[in-house]
Amino acid sequence: MTGKKKVLLSARKIRARVKRLGKQLTAAYAGKDPLFVCVLKGACVFYADLVRAVRCPVQFDFVQASSYGSGTVSSGEVRLEKATDQPVEGRHVVLVEDIVDTGRTLAYLKRLFLQQGARSVAICALLDKPSRRAAGGAQADYVGFTIADRFVVGCGLDYAERFRNLPAIAELPAEETHE
Ligand code: 5GP
Repeated sequence: MTGKKKVLLSARKIRARVKRLGKQLTAAYAGKDPLFVCVLKGACVFYADLVRAVRCPVQFDFVQASSYGSGTVSSGEVRLEKATDQPVEGRHVVLVEDIVDTGRTLAYLKRLFLQQGARSVAICALLDKPSRRAAGGAQADYVGFTIADRFVVGCGLDYAERFRNLPAIAELPAEETHE
């Protein structure tokens, strides 16, 4: 944890973008009593900022899924570690995620919620790496920033549980992932 991280997106830039996403979601979900589902743990920082930028009533829920271990390469398989507390049946669900990489995690969660009878499922992600999308991977409906294929940390995103509290999004130098 010694080298210099390269800042890709400043906290200020992120704040401004999240505000605009909040406006878009307010327009789309006013009167729909949506359930905003945070995908733990990575999305928690983005989620907290996003829900406060949404100006219509929303309900909170949380799920946890895993596809990455503690390294930087996806295992490809998705496991549900924690389900929502409330039923999604009949609800307009907004899945809030930190980053769409292969899109497998969100494809899995979206399929699950639709099977459970959700009325609609939209995906809102702070970051999108479209060049990494796998066949059958989900696409986000609302995206903060599209980025190149880089391993990034900060704003909730970790490397081995570190760097989540960085207020900016930074690229982690390769040598730091081998410590
Ligand atoms: P997917 O199922 O889209 O391949 O994986 C999504 C998950 O992989 C994200 O929620 C995140 O936990 C992890 N991930 C993908 N790319 C990155 C990255 O650049 N940095 C970090 N810290 N996690 C990533």
